[in-house]
Amino acid sequence: MIDSARLVVVSGGATGIGRAIARRFAGHGDRVVIVGRRRELLDRAAAEIGRTAGTGRVIPVGADLTDPGQVRDAADRIIGLGPVDVLVNNAGAIVTPPDGAGLGALAAAWRRDLDTNLITAVLLTNALLERLSRPGGRVVMISSAAAQRGGSGPHSAGSYAAAKAALHGWALGLARQLGPDGITVNVLAPGYIQDTDIFHGRDTPEFTASKIADTLVGRPGTPAEVAAAVAYIASAEAGYLTGQIIGLNGGAVLGR
Ligand code: NDP
Repeated sequence: MIDSARLVVVSGGATGIGRAIARRFAGHGDRVVIVGRRRELLDRAAAEIGRTAGTGRVIPVGADLTDPGQVRDAADRIIGLGPVDVLVNNAGAIVTPPDGAGLGALAAAWRRDLDTNLITAVLLTNALLERLSRPGGRVVMISSAAAQRGGSGPHSAGSYAAAKAALHGWALGLARQLGPDGITVNVLAPGYIQDTDIFHGRDTPEFTASKIADTLVGRPGTPAEVAAAVAYIASAEAGYLTGQIIGLNGGAVLGR
């Protein structure tokens, strides 16, 4: 289904969902750049995926994508590899609730969430914008069902859901901007996906059970299922799909 020999960029590609996305594209013959802060995890993922997909197929690039200077350096390296056919803005995290009481701690937590889940995507996309393949380029944002349902509680102060929802408004405008160039921009909003690092072990059995109970299919999603959806959105066949918020949540959110 995936066109071969494209250049694909996956932020947060060393772990969890991003790693499954990188594996999926590399397994179908694409060159995949994975970007993240932890160099050793990037190297390990590139080597592990390369063992089956082909050595050198996955290219690790270390960068904190909240830092404009580091994004510029990473983008320059990527641009040296050729035009970018697919950009998957997957990097993100749930920032824990404020460390202390008071508006200062609240503001800091919200800013961290916006930085991690929104600004990472905005900076990387803008740094690569001129080098997206025209026509045929694909931009995919990994959002969350939390953006559609709201989200707060033990894992988040509500800022995670708000930061992901902000991705939506920005992505829709970007789709309008890039459509005439033949580039599609879409948002994929997964529900509860297991086997990733995002909950840092805080997903207790009670939490997991409540997430599963939200679904109609009675189970969590898998990183491979997210990767399969991204593969379709990024395919040549999906050229008529743009400006959409696409849910992948086992029925936890209906009709959107
Ligand atoms: P992981 O924690 O496994 O992956 C997040 C990745 O993002 C890590 O590889 C991390 O690498 C990278 N990252 C975070 N901050 C930065 C940064 N500042 N600069 C560069 N890279 C960064 O969790 P998931 O795989 O679950 O998450 C992937 C995406 O899916 C996220 O956007 C998340 O919000 C979203 N999502 C996840 C769901 C789930 O249930 N798992 C549900 C809905 C959405 P490093 O720390 O090394 O930088």
